[in-house]
Amino acid sequence: MALVLFNTFTRKKEEFIPLEPPYVRMYNCGPTVYDTFHIGNARNFVVVDVIRRYLMYKGYKVKFVQNITDIDDKIIARAQQEGASTEEIARRYTEYYFKYINLLGIMPADENPRATEFIPQMIEFVQKLVQKNSAYVVDGDVFFRIKSYPHYGELSGKKLDDLKKGARVDVDPRKEDPLDFALWKSAKPGEPYWESPWGKGRPGWHIECSVMSMAHLGETLDIHSGGIDLIFPHHENERAQSESLTNKQFVRYWLHNGFLNIESQKMSKSLGNILTIDSILEQYDPEVVRYFLISAHYRHPLDYSQTNLREAKSAWQRLVDSTITTDEIIRLLLKDGSIRESDIAQMNETIEQRLSTFRSQFEQAMDDDFNTAEAIAALFNIVGEINTLRENINQQLKNGHSPEPGKVSYLSALNKLLKELIGVLGFRLPEKPTLSSELTDNLIRILVDIRQKARQQKLFEFADMIRSRLNELGIVLEDHPQGTIWKFKQ
Ligand SMILES: [Zn+2]
Repeated sequence: MALVLFNTFTRKKEEFIPLEPPYVRMYNCGPTVYDTFHIGNARNFVVVDVIRRYLMYKGYKVKFVQNITDIDDKIIARAQQEGASTEEIARRYTEYYFKYINLLGIMPADENPRATEFIPQMIEFVQKLVQKNSAYVVDGDVFFRIKSYPHYGELSGKKLDDLKKGARVDVDPRKEDPLDFALWKSAKPGEPYWESPWGKGRPGWHIECSVMSMAHLGETLDIHSGGIDLIFPHHENERAQSESLTNKQFVRYWLHNGFLNIESQKMSKSLGNILTIDSILEQYDPEVVRYFLISAHYRHPLDYSQTNLREAKSAWQRLVDSTITTDEIIRLLLKDGSIRESDIAQMNETIEQRLSTFRSQFEQAMDDDFNTAEAIAALFNIVGEINTLRENINQQLKNGHSPEPGKVSYLSALNKLLKELIGVLGFRLPEKPTLSSELTDNLIRILVDIRQKARQQKLFEFADMIRSRLNELGIVLEDHPQGTIWKFKQ
């Protein structure tokens, strides 16, 4: 089945066809490093990570770029507030960012360009726009000329008149049009600056993303993603300036994830309900947070509440439990921890079919605009099958029968599939508290000692029972003058 995704630009689901398959050029707007990041930012990072992983699972060669905005009004404001340098603020929160995306199990980007490393390219970009009459200079500031780009407003689907009405407050009188936006800002006293043809100044936020994405991915990106709040003006402006420069389509598919609310309320500074990722990870395991963040479709709003997090916690635990138990059963049944040839021979067509049905349930969900909620439901179908099978095998063991080899193979294959798909969603399973070889050894030694005591007390029948029961499990005891050793039956 073809992968379809919802393109914000066309407002409909479209088949995903990258410009040059199997390569996928993907860009996600990264953090402005002036503060800690919150659970809403984490949602974007995790969702994009899952999308990237799924594209890789489908065989695409994805180049993923996520920038770091390390010069911006907010960073300058924070630095002034703290009496620190902008570099210091940027360094502190860049470290914070890397620390927490790593804890969340997000794959490192192929490139993490920093805005301050691309200033000459930004200046060049702006110069070209000025030359093309797409931008104009006023007192050391450079503005993009909306009038020059007839497609402005198409991405956000907003009418220019409505946008102008909204922009009327505090409009800079030097602008030709209220919607014109700054490409380059002249430096105020005390602010960091770079020399430019227009004097001392710094780039605007929007130009940063256009330059950094093109530098690493070329003039046309396959996927550009971000939170829904970035559609306007950030992405609208990125598109306008990029397409004005290149006369080419800037982005083939625009993807935006929905808002995250806190206890049904919008997260905002004024409500004082901003939840930083560090505070959440003090309470919850990163996998639980990841589970919660992808438990709804990425475009839908998601509500952070203690109830929802508790539910995520118990659901994640159910997934983990089902994988561990399966492993342990297999290890016990197969004696030496590996599948026997004879078992694999028992794997019949019906089993293969069932496995492929489970896999395609997962794929169908993900192919449908990365519907992680449905994909998780598909994982729980596998969990259900595992649990039924496990009960069945346990019942056979209880009745003194060996389980049918085919069932063990099926259980093992289901377990493998479940783990693989859990990995596609980017989850990390905890180290399994399984019967380690050391523990196995210790347990067998206890039995060997008990048998030894029984023989000393002439309880030969009892001693023989221990030997024969171990033999049934494939463990052979050999008595030597210096003591008893055990080994697995060949
Ligand atoms: Zn951006």
